[in-house]
Amino acid sequence: MFPLFSYFSFTIFSLLFLSPPCFPAMTTPGTTTVLTADTLNATWQEFSRFLDVGIGSQVAGMSELKIYFHRFGYLSLSSTNNLTDVFDDQLQSAVVAYQTNMGLPVTGKLDSSTMSLIMSPRCGVTDRTTQNTTTNQGLHVTRHFAYFYGKPRWVRGSPMRLTYAFSPDNMIDYISKAEMRAAFKRAFSRWAAVIPISFKEVESYKMADIKIGFYHGDHGDGEPFDGVLGVLGHAFSPESGRFHLDAAETWAVDFSKVKSRVAVDLESVATHEIGHVLGLGHTSVKGAVMFPSLSPRTKKVDLKMDDVEGVQALYGLNPNFNTSSFAYENSSNKGIGLMSRTSKWTICVVVGVLVLFSCT
Ligand SMILES: [Zn+2]
Ligand SMILES: [Zn+2]
Repeated sequence: MFPLFSYFSFTIFSLLFLSPPCFPAMTTPGTTTVLTADTLNATWQEFSRFLDVGIGSQVAGMSELKIYFHRFGYLSLSSTNNLTDVFDDQLQSAVVAYQTNMGLPVTGKLDSSTMSLIMSPRCGVTDRTTQNTTTNQGLHVTRHFAYFYGKPRWVRGSPMRLTYAFSPDNMIDYISKAEMRAAFKRAFSRWAAVIPISFKEVESYKMADIKIGFYHGDHGDGEPFDGVLGVLGHAFSPESGRFHLDAAETWAVDFSKVKSRVAVDLESVATHEIGHVLGLGHTSVKGAVMFPSLSPRTKKVDLKMDDVEGVQALYGLNPNFNTSSFAYENSSNKGIGLMSRTSKWTICVVVGVLVLFSCT
């Protein structure tokens, strides 16, 4: 039974996770679904075998899932050696904590929505070393933004200006310097529009407040990158300024020119990591920039109210920022986003089942 189950789950997950209908807007219409070696070997794809595995069951490789939860702050382990492949009580508690934090239905099970999110590429910053600030406000607004412990922030004279520079030695060569600079300029400008901080690119990497670079694997800060997909990047809390991207990703600034199914939008990840550089942790609001996961071929660059409120609580408001018009646009976008996401999932499931039956 197990190999058949494994085949089924893998096929469905490959379709759900990597096929074009699952990706919002930015995919090229009319392309054929081909699962290539790079997609099949992408980090965490082998977790698809754990779909619907129940408590008490033993599945080879389950210890890797425990390490995953440990890494992102959901499972406390004194050592990652000698872990069993049994779905034990501790793992179930981690699943519950993950589902709660990520805004998923809390089932304690490795159901399809949970597995799909676990397997999605994400930021390397842990989810649980942050202080959550969930508050119910009078206007029925629930805030989910978070900070690093101690709520660190940049402290500079007013008006605050932070500089950033690209590493002279750790860059990628297939995106032009001009395109790279433009993508980061746009990413920084979104945050600058809402808080009283300006950002300026400078030549001197050594002197810059924020230091940006692309790195392979273990790059000396104790947070090694993991190859294609999986962790996409990470950045450190204020006032470190370290901003690292995984050089193994296929970075893209324009999906119409990059066909790879594992392409990752540079500007989206840059916008997210700048949030960390400024002091924000991860949010459980799915549509927000500070949500930890980002699917391939997806562009998510617009700050949401949750992002804005979080960063403004650290630095105050940009006097030119119009909160009420932003809130209005934000709330109308939210509804549309939710609808389209739901229908995309429905399409994914239907397409997956149809393809499965046509193959048998
Ligand atoms: Zn992050
Ligand atoms: Zn790093």
